[in-house]
Amino acid sequence: MADNNLNNLVLEDGSNIAVIGGGPAGSFFSYFALDFAQRYDLNINIDIIEPKDFNCAGPAGCNHCGGIVSESLIQLLSTEGIVLPSTVIRRGIKSYSMHFELGDTTIETPFQEQRIASMFRGIGPRGNVNEEQLSFDNYLMELCVHNGASLITDRIVDLNRVSDGIIVKTKNGTEKKYDLVVGAAGLNLKTLQLFKKLIPSFIPPVTTKTYICEFQLESALIDKYFGNSMHVFLLNLPNIKFGALIPKGKYVTLVLLGSNINKEIVSNFLNSDSVRKCFPPEININEIIPCQCYPLINVKEAKSAFSDRVILIGDSSTSKLYKNGIGAAYITGKAAAKTAIFNGINKSSFKKDFKPVSKNLNLDNRIGKFIFFATTIIQKSSILKRGIFRMVIKEQKKPDYKRLLSSVLWDTFTGSAPYKDIFKRLIYPLLLVNLIWNIIYGNLKKDKK
Ligand SMILES: Cc1cc2nc3c(=O)[nH]c(=O)nc-3n(C[C@H](O)[C@H](O)[C@H](O)COP(=O)(O)OP(=O)(O)OC[C@H]3O[C@@H](n4cnc5c(N)ncnc54)[C@H](O)[C@@H]3O)c2cc1C
Repeated sequence: MADNNLNNLVLEDGSNIAVIGGGPAGSFFSYFALDFAQRYDLNINIDIIEPKDFNCAGPAGCNHCGGIVSESLIQLLSTEGIVLPSTVIRRGIKSYSMHFELGDTTIETPFQEQRIASMFRGIGPRGNVNEEQLSFDNYLMELCVHNGASLITDRIVDLNRVSDGIIVKTKNGTEKKYDLVVGAAGLNLKTLQLFKKLIPSFIPPVTTKTYICEFQLESALIDKYFGNSMHVFLLNLPNIKFGALIPKGKYVTLVLLGSNINKEIVSNFLNSDSVRKCFPPEININEIIPCQCYPLINVKEAKSAFSDRVILIGDSSTSKLYKNGIGAAYITGKAAAKTAIFNGINKSSFKKDFKPVSKNLNLDNRIGKFIFFATTIIQKSSILKRGIFRMVIKEQKKPDYKRLLSSVLWDTFTGSAPYKDIFKRLIYPLLLVNLIWNIIYGNLKKDKK
């Protein structure tokens, strides 16, 4: 590694990189860093330090997530050489059913490239023994190991800066000096605090509590009651911004996003008529939950997430608000790798080449916040919901390109497009006029009944 001249700090043959966390962000960084280094004829060593075994069923091997990936991300990854095998994908989602208190309607995928897929980040919920299915996180990590990264199954417990590198200490007692440390530890707040020793101005991301659980059902019942459809709920329940039931193999995943979700909020949701109706009537849903958790989600980016020889990526730094965190991990992981290999590993290099990428995501999230604020208002108003419901039902009889509101809703709930694009389509005059008309007409008609 080059000297202490921090104005010109670059990776050299034999440089060592520690990637802390082997989730998607850590793997995407490692994959692209190895790829770019090979093209640059640079010989680097990457250690991915990850304590979890993603092939272990249940919480011990899980990175808590809805497991939705968009077709556009799957295609983008395959152009990068990351071709997800069919054993990683649990179900292709071709439509979604939107549930309001006043009824439900099905929205077909607006276009082929807007399809989505469901998968498990680990091998599945507690007790799952399906050996044919693969874990997404493990697949990515193994790809990096195949390409030359070393996997260290351990947890980092300390980080210390020295004049010519950063000492990384693990739980098992190993200490090693690295030229660059990449923080991809997700929202593990204890781990993120360690980075404050390297970057005193670092402020971890703002988070809120969410809820995930798995329902285990016979495949035939899943086919009958859920099919290849994701079920989205826009119900007037406090604290919930978004609820979704996602079929995956012999499981259905429930994801509840909002603010500080707790047991009582979950119970209100599960006991609502709209949710009960989705399940076979003879089944007590509380008895078919093998796994549940309240993971944190990133709702506002970290501050000062890079400095000399250190950068944070993925959830530890910037994600996409409520959706497509895997896509954001890809964007930040690749941008960090590109900067480190081609431009340098000092603060000014990351500021010049990495910051604009994360800034773009942060700006998009501001627009996302506004869109989710609007959906909260819709959730509370039966007048607005009646208009939306009516317009969506009518649109489903029209050709794809005329389904303006349906495609906005699809992208909002699946995370298939940047919020900026969704917003532009949302304020399209034809959509707004149509929506206002449906709100007025739908409510007048209801009053006449
Ligand atoms: C309820 C919910 C639903 C979601 N649904 C979706 C969805 O459907 N689609 C989507 O794209 N995104 C979704 N997300 C977001 C997505 O899960 C995250 O954005 C994504 O996991 C971020 O990847 P990451 O690699 O940054 O972090 P993580 O996936 O959290 O990986 C971090 C890794 O770091 C490791 N680690 C932590 N501390 C240490 C340490 N001290 N030493 C070594 N390793 C350590 C952890 O073990 C972990 O493996 C959802 C999130 C939540 C909370």
